[in-house]
Amino acid sequence: MTASSPLDVVQRPALDAAAIRVQFPILRTCVHGQPLVYLDNAASAQKPDRVVDAVADYYLRQHANIHRGAYQLSITATRLHEEARACVARFINAAEPAECIFTRGTTESINLVAASWGKANLRPGDEIILSELEHHSNIVPWQMAAQASEARIRVIPIDDAGELRLDVYRQLLSPRTRLVAVTQVSNALGTVNPVQEIISAAHAAGALVLIDGAQWVAHGRTDVQALDADFYAFSGHKLYGPTGIGVLYGKRRLLEAMPPYQGGGDMIERVTFAHTTYAELPNKFEAGTPHIAGAVGLAAAIDWLCAAGLEAAATHEALLLRHATQRLSAIPGIEIKGTARNKAGVLSWVVTDPPMGTLDIGVALDFKGICIRTGHHCCQPLMDRLGLASTARASFGVYNTIAEVDCLAAELAAIIDAGRGQRVSVGAVPAPAAGRPTGAPEILYPGAEAESPAAAAELIREVFELLPDWSMRYQHLMGLGARLPVMPETLKTPANFVSGCQSLVHLDARVRSDSTDILEFLADSDAAIVRGLIALLQQLFSGQSATTILAFNAQAFFGQIGLDEHLSLGRRNGLAAMVQRLRQLASRVVGQRGVRDLEAASPAAVHCSHT
Ligand code: PMP
Repeated sequence: MTASSPLDVVQRPALDAAAIRVQFPILRTCVHGQPLVYLDNAASAQKPDRVVDAVADYYLRQHANIHRGAYQLSITATRLHEEARACVARFINAAEPAECIFTRGTTESINLVAASWGKANLRPGDEIILSELEHHSNIVPWQMAAQASEARIRVIPIDDAGELRLDVYRQLLSPRTRLVAVTQVSNALGTVNPVQEIISAAHAAGALVLIDGAQWVAHGRTDVQALDADFYAFSGHKLYGPTGIGVLYGKRRLLEAMPPYQGGGDMIERVTFAHTTYAELPNKFEAGTPHIAGAVGLAAAIDWLCAAGLEAAATHEALLLRHATQRLSAIPGIEIKGTARNKAGVLSWVVTDPPMGTLDIGVALDFKGICIRTGHHCCQPLMDRLGLASTARASFGVYNTIAEVDCLAAELAAIIDAGRGQRVSVGAVPAPAAGRPTGAPEILYPGAEAESPAAAAELIREVFELLPDWSMRYQHLMGLGARLPVMPETLKTPANFVSGCQSLVHLDARVRSDSTDILEFLADSDAAIVRGLIALLQQLFSGQSATTILAFNAQAFFGQIGLDEHLSLGRRNGLAAMVQRLRQLASRVVGQRGVRDLEAASPAAVHCSHT
């Protein structure tokens, strides 16, 4: 496919993105000195000033706790909260506001149904149908409910385009099926599922349906009555509204028959120590002080989006998606993942030539001011089905432009070009070594760069202080990573796999053959930034004694040089997992040396990671 001019795609602008953009102050900011290009709307959308103003105005002028107050301010806050509920009901065409429960978001909405409806209705042998496209938040709550009730989970597979196999779905439906829980739009691939068809087939089989609308509500009209959905869940923050607020829609008769999810204030009718009766809907499911400002902000977001035009937004995003698909497909080395006929606002890809870790792509784009998401997108079963650990994902919102898509494509092409032939392979040195079969390559493990981990830390700190900013420090780390000795594939065994890292990490350590406690290690990752962190760990620890490794507080050191603050949570966890692995290995060496000292045994090398 060749890149086409944006004008081929955009004959008629469906929506005035420029007029929309001025309402989002964040879009005028810069990242790493570059204008922000925000393409992570599937994770969370930015907020127009109208929403921020509504929340601020509420806190500045209208806040009080709701329901119980006899005074005007509390009555006003209660009115605003309930008006927000009415706004939500109109937005999704619920039969009445009481069918719309405020929650913290999609995750809590699904947990509420799984816990409450599940407890009341699931029995051993019952079946819940999910799909391979589901987000973890539409999998794990059902696994918990199934475990508690001895019900069983069945899964609708996808085809290679990322579309649900409806033929298999129909076969899965049976009198044992109690509930079908599927997403309307896949957050990882963008597939729009035929939920109407899915719901009517489930109903014909006597099952209920929960729709995860997290990725739909901002991108098309929602009519829960026309769909005949039994439950419908979504989050405010993907809808240009605040975080911490979401909605569970449920049909009145179903919600009424369900036990409360949480107990507390506001959800009761009468409490005695002997017995409690519960409030009417929706309060029965809203224990405690709710996120009043969140509800107010959500209503402002809904009003704002409806005024901008949901249909116009959908058309605009479809144009962006089509253009992005054309531009990225035309870049050699990129493989688009998810080619369903009906997609909404999400484009996922991997770079196969040269093979590049998605994390590296994300970090490199970040330096150009472009925010995309990389990883498993909370869809690990889907990644398993695709045979991938992660994808890179751009996702579009109303304020994105064709120019931003072009910017993404151009920067991506440049990153891939720069990546060609950049990795240095110096892992295995073909020299015979004592004790090895002749011809087997000796594997070089890096030796000590300083006399102790603390001395190595000083050297690292000096370099970091010399570099003027974090952009340069990242580049320094990437450079270290590029020079890291590549670990031979034979050492990338399951035993050497380090779990807890966002990217793929293997670490192999050994005790140096002329010592009893000098630990050397090799490690590798599919992400350049993680290879940079591995290089730091090698500078600190490889070639040092197990005792000094254990005595050095690496986490505190990373905090002192600011790494903690500047790494994402995933990368921080990965670094902590590698440090922990090294400490475990060092402890094992110290323990074994103790035994050997006692037995006065010979100091033969212990390959600790294989024990
Ligand atoms: N379902 C889908 C399809 C999602 O994309 C997300 C968010 N990525 C969720 C559920 C969970 O939403 P939240 O984190 O807002 O609860």
